[in-house]
Amino acid sequence: MNYPGRVAQLQERLISESVDALLITHLPNVFYLTGFTGSAGNLLVFPQRVLFLTDGRYVEQASKEVSVAEIVAMKKGGLEETAKILLRRRVKRGAFEARHVSFETAQDLKRRTRNKIRWQSGSGWTEELRAVKSPEEVGAIESSLGLVEGAFEKTLLRVRPGVRERDLAAELEFHMKKHGAQKVSFDLIVASGPRSALPHGLASERRVGRNEFLVFDLGAILRGYSSDFTRTVFVGRPTAKAREIYSVVKESQECALAAVDAGVPASQIDHLARRTIRKKGYGRYFVHSTGHGIGIEVHEAPAIGARSRAVLQAGNVIAVEPGIYVPGFGGVRIEDLALVGRHDSRILTQTTKQLVTL
Ligand code: ZN
Ligand code: ZN
Repeated sequence: MNYPGRVAQLQERLISESVDALLITHLPNVFYLTGFTGSAGNLLVFPQRVLFLTDGRYVEQASKEVSVAEIVAMKKGGLEETAKILLRRRVKRGAFEARHVSFETAQDLKRRTRNKIRWQSGSGWTEELRAVKSPEEVGAIESSLGLVEGAFEKTLLRVRPGVRERDLAAELEFHMKKHGAQKVSFDLIVASGPRSALPHGLASERRVGRNEFLVFDLGAILRGYSSDFTRTVFVGRPTAKAREIYSVVKESQECALAAVDAGVPASQIDHLARRTIRKKGYGRYFVHSTGHGIGIEVHEAPAIGARSRAVLQAGNVIAVEPGIYVPGFGGVRIEDLALVGRHDSRILTQTTKQLVTL
């Protein structure tokens, strides 16, 4: 990964904002900028220099993983030392990731640099860079998605009335890890019958019944990058209503995906998905936004919702996942990942969207 290039882009932002130092504390951002995979490390970015601040537990690991910054060993917490470094370097204007810093830490930072540093928010600066993926990052996401789809295909063979949701989830996780996943990117969703109407129905003790929907929403982390994938299958023989709901979600999702292109407002993608569902009379059962960007985090920029102000850019990787959730009856969601291009956007997910009945 091109860490020096990423840091240089961030340094340009500092210069354009007239900021002398930016404190990065959000770990996914630290990982993006340096490759550090540990769980404690901050980055201090100056226009001409970068310091990686960590405590004794991670100095060795950092010296192996981090080549883009000078490594500084600090006491645990280290806010006092961070403030000292900033004052020693005569920083006048500083920025920190206000979105990710607790009120208490922000107060502490301000108190320790009182009257010397004017602080502002640097929230989103790194996230904006992260939204546009390099081919290498797209490759990592695709590999992670491939793992998940492979595990899904194998696990489908085990679906039958009586099998527990949690056993299916365990099976999925086993296959993913067996094929190289570091971990799952979120608690796996395996939701059957009435539970399929819960947009976040984590795998439970429930046994899959006959003649009901079964929703799988799965993701894995590979080389630091996440995937996200949802398919809904039917166990038994779907009624006309079940078929209708499924086909409306599929149409909605395909309509939204077909519009994915650089320059298109993210809110337009949401609008297209929602309009299809609303026209068929299920509008009030589509209770979440249409999608999200994905990468180091499962949910990152750009947001794909009615109120999103983002405009799709070539290199964004987004999830498109409309759903219909009818309480007491069941729910359907279909989720694919797409790589945004300039007239050559590409759907990364390979699994069929035809209604699979088991
Ligand atoms: Zn998902
Ligand atoms: Zn998702």
